[in-house]
Amino acid sequence: MAQIHATLSNKHMTEEAFALLASYELFPELYFSSHSIDNISAESVASLKAMLDSHKFASSMHAPFMEQDIGAVDNALRQRSLGRLLKTLEVADQLGSQRIVIHPGYGEMINNSDFLQWLQRATEPLKLLLERAIELNLKIAFENIYDSTPARLHQLLQTVDSRNAGICFDTGHYNLFSELPMQAWLDKLGSNILVCHIHDNDKSGDQHLAIGDGCIDYSPLITWYNRLAPEAKPVLTLEALNRPDVIKSATRINTWGL
Ligand SMILES: [Zn+2]
Repeated sequence: MAQIHATLSNKHMTEEAFALLASYELFPELYFSSHSIDNISAESVASLKAMLDSHKFASSMHAPFMEQDIGAVDNALRQRSLGRLLKTLEVADQLGSQRIVIHPGYGEMINNSDFLQWLQRATEPLKLLLERAIELNLKIAFENIYDSTPARLHQLLQTVDSRNAGICFDTGHYNLFSELPMQAWLDKLGSNILVCHIHDNDKSGDQHLAIGDGCIDYSPLITWYNRLAPEAKPVLTLEALNRPDVIKSATRINTWGL
């Protein structure tokens, strides 16, 4: 059976919200902002863990991404970004979240030479991050944001060269920023995809609409997913903005025949 997660930000991680997810057989993707990961207390981690355990949830995590750039020119920002991601791994370990989604941080770079310089600066901190992920037996999934092709994420994976590194394929970002067929992305990155972020848009913006409320044709994803061996299947994470859209997406994904 498909493992379907839904995003919950830190302030929404309540027993009531967890019970609602459980009633739809969903698991949580726990999203922590920079502020919340910096300030999370041992007590709140413990109480969150107790709530997750009470539902027997398998959770995933979404790392902070605002003002984060692990390949920044500014050394202090690079170090701060790495420190925050290392803290995120510790929290993931304590909560039992096995897959952590990270925005790589190179953003909207147009020139590939700028990206290559970014990657050079990011390589050492990324390798340190992945060393810790290996020690904690955690997987890191790097997400497409503004990418028009899968090339940069593919190059990032080759550079870090770690079995604990993979990809989060975000359908909404793909639809907004890439003109390629979805199949081209699945062919290039498919065996490394650990998580799929599922949300929709009409190409006018990153709307995070419910499945089917935008213009995405999910059929390549569904066919690809159904052909994977059970252990290779990614987590599918619903990233709708509000509760009615999460419920609508959960209902619609159940018609996909996964
Ligand atoms: Zn996403």
